[in-house]
Amino acid sequence: MLRALPCVSALPRCRATSRWFSEMAAPAEAISKADDVISRTSRLFIDNQYVEAEGGRLPVLSPVDGKPFASIAHASARDVDRAVQSARRCFDHDCWPQQDVQARVEILKRIAAALRTPEVYTCHSGRADAALLTQVCDALCVIESRDCGKPFSESQGDLGVCADTFDYYAEVAPETMKTTYPSVGAGATHFYARIAVEPLGVVGCITPWNFPLMQAVLKVAPALAAGCAVVLKPSPLASLTCCALGELVAAAGAPPGALNVITGGPPEVLEGGGSTGQYLIDHSMLDKVSFTGSGSAGQKMLEASASKLRPTCLELGGKSAFIVFEDAADDLDHLVDWVMVGIFQCTGQVCSATSRLLIHESLEAKLVERLLEGIRSIKVGDPLQKGTLMGPVVSEGQQQKVLGMIQQAEADGGKIHSVPLELPKELQQGYYVPPTVLSNLAESSAAWKQEIFGPVLAIRSFRTEEEAIRLANDTPYGLANAVWSADRARTQRVAAQLKSGVVWENCSQVLFPSTPFGGRQGKASGFGFEQGIAGLKEFVSEKTVITGDRTGYSWGVYKQS
Ligand code: NAD
Repeated sequence: MLRALPCVSALPRCRATSRWFSEMAAPAEAISKADDVISRTSRLFIDNQYVEAEGGRLPVLSPVDGKPFASIAHASARDVDRAVQSARRCFDHDCWPQQDVQARVEILKRIAAALRTPEVYTCHSGRADAALLTQVCDALCVIESRDCGKPFSESQGDLGVCADTFDYYAEVAPETMKTTYPSVGAGATHFYARIAVEPLGVVGCITPWNFPLMQAVLKVAPALAAGCAVVLKPSPLASLTCCALGELVAAAGAPPGALNVITGGPPEVLEGGGSTGQYLIDHSMLDKVSFTGSGSAGQKMLEASASKLRPTCLELGGKSAFIVFEDAADDLDHLVDWVMVGIFQCTGQVCSATSRLLIHESLEAKLVERLLEGIRSIKVGDPLQKGTLMGPVVSEGQQQKVLGMIQQAEADGGKIHSVPLELPKELQQGYYVPPTVLSNLAESSAAWKQEIFGPVLAIRSFRTEEEAIRLANDTPYGLANAVWSADRARTQRVAAQLKSGVVWENCSQVLFPSTPFGGRQGKASGFGFEQGIAGLKEFVSEKTVITGDRTGYSWGVYKQS
């Protein structure tokens, strides 16, 4: 029986608590170090070494100003094969999966320590450069912010969650990986049973760009804790921090092949219609694929796995609702803060963003007014500068998609509430979108129905509890929802009826390493879990062993007497 664990994270997965951070600019030293880190790490990491990709390099544009600021390695099919073969060797021939779980726990703890307090970090691998790693954390946050556009404070929050996640899996792995001995019943006196919990194998992990390092760690930490070997492929739109993760893991003592990191482009970049990601999921030597991203790419994951009968975990998109009942009127300050956390952190590019606000009709006018005040207070701009609360969206394509959906909402009769951006000249080619609230939306409008993945809040009002629940559940997605009321019985009653993997009562986006996160089975947000014990179990295979009484007993069916 697993013991109940206290939450090991003081910092939730969202940056709800990081407002104070926003006063902080990125330190000048970290900014100047970032380029060194990028030039050192932006290669493939295979067999605990950086290697160049046969496929050449791809330029990386910063969403902050639309200018090239780095390049990533572009893994070809042969590069991908090298990475998978290396992971295969690690899993099949190295002691990594067989070694005592405690040895892996020590490695996870060292990684967490390196991410949290790099000055106490000591190098455990001859190949990795400990001196560089001791200084790398703030530089990593700078890189993350320039690569995907999130404010420096959010990148720091993400790094903290990464450290907490490694620590959490270090704490729970020994108990979860333990062999158990179930009772086989009073009549079965000649038999014993044990259930061994084994690492699943070689796992291909494919991740998106909105929380680049954190999304990778949510898979890599439990996979390594279980004893799997991992080939990680982050999004080509924001890969740079993940490039350094391989070195961090190797330097903490993981053997060659335990974590290989490959980067590369989407289909339109490569000749012949292939892509680094596609090469990975088409590889026949993966035992599992763990994917986070869009529903359309999720379908490709399943198609590639179908012929191999390969398990595939999918963490997909959402269009989550935040239901506000009339009794919220007594404390609008906290409510407005949580509503804004739910849609504006990470520039709204959050799978679980509570992007549909359902307000009791008696409160709608007042709450829209308060949200407009809130929007005016958001400083949009350079994510590395002091006070910036919102950066750009990740790419020009994403910017055009989000702006297009706002225009479409207006054409469909919706009302747009936003404040024009005032950007300095040097940021005007960046991919910024004004924080926006849309009201007067029809139930059938695209802005109400579809995931926008930008800083855009869609609003509708309701009259009764039943209507609120119906509207919230009227979506193909099933990732998360939130409900706000002073009446605890009501929040619990509504939470029980919301069809999603997560429900927040009187908050939004708060998650901990110990709380499982995943879409509700049967809806379009995917299946499988990250975080919590459930996130670790994605990377194990249970084996039942039944032992008979060799000389003392047989059933006697074919006995030659
Ligand atoms: P995406 O599906 O375009 O890409 C995700 C990853 O898959 C990237 O690494 C990409 O290169 C790769 N990929 C895309 N097509 C592929 C193919 N055919 N074969 C192999 N790899 C392929 O998603 P995105 O735009 O990076 O991320 C945004 C989406 O991710 C949103 O829908 C968001 O809701 C979702 N998301 C979900 C969660 C979650 O935990 N449920 C978390 C973050 C983001």
